[in-house]
Amino acid sequence: MPELPEIETIKRDLENIIIGKRIKDVEVKVARIIKEPSVENFIKGVQNKEIKEVLRRGKVLILKLSAQYLVIHLRMTGQIIYGDKQEKSKIVFLLSDGKYLNFLDQRVMGEIKLINDWRDLPFIKQMGPEPLDKGFSLEKFQEMLKGKKTKIKPLLMDQGFIAGIGNLYAVEILFRAKANPLRPANSLVLSEIKKIYSAIKEVLEEGIWHRGSSVDTYRDARGEKGKFEQRIRVYGRKGEPCFGCGDPIEKITLGGRGTYFCPKCQK
Ligand SMILES: [Zn+2]
Repeated sequence: MPELPEIETIKRDLENIIIGKRIKDVEVKVARIIKEPSVENFIKGVQNKEIKEVLRRGKVLILKLSAQYLVIHLRMTGQIIYGDKQEKSKIVFLLSDGKYLNFLDQRVMGEIKLINDWRDLPFIKQMGPEPLDKGFSLEKFQEMLKGKKTKIKPLLMDQGFIAGIGNLYAVEILFRAKANPLRPANSLVLSEIKKIYSAIKEVLEEGIWHRGSSVDTYRDARGEKGKFEQRIRVYGRKGEPCFGCGDPIEKITLGGRGTYFCPKCQK
């Protein structure tokens, strides 16, 4: 499932490719992906509109058009791929350069909205801070954790707490910080909070540097896989030796999600 580093990679790719181009037409093959407005109005609303800007908030990709915004959630298996028209795409935008922007989605859980202002969406209003923004300081993180009894791993994945982190990056962050995913947030002392804080920035930045992780269906805007898998230290490594101590990595289910960790290294 694409998380912050994957969406940021797509965003940066698209910035170089599609800004200044116009959407000449759109083909909606699977209507239920368009959540707002009606398919008819969606088509009218995007036709002949210029793509002005590409934005990201959390795991959401946003294209600023002449007047409105296209808000794109890739969810589990969504992909946005520029180039030739792809047979399996669910929504296809024809651009003024003669190329296509394909929205593909195996499990069809993705969503696209055309709205006046993305900042008015309730889930956007409720979203926590961007972890790579300067405003997300250690002091702020410390403040955010105060009084939180929730276990640290599901808390890191809570988009209302902090934006953009999903299962894969949460387990990698906690492994690097040597923190047990089951620790209640309010039990963490300052030295542990500092390690988690640094690991959040480090792991997400490394994820972007390696153009995301393609352990599942993720592809960048040109259809290429990311290379962060080679940097993964715990995710998907159940039973394999820990890179820290050699003991087998454990897998538990926490908040319904497969959680990998080393009980010896992560206290
Ligand atoms: Zn270990």
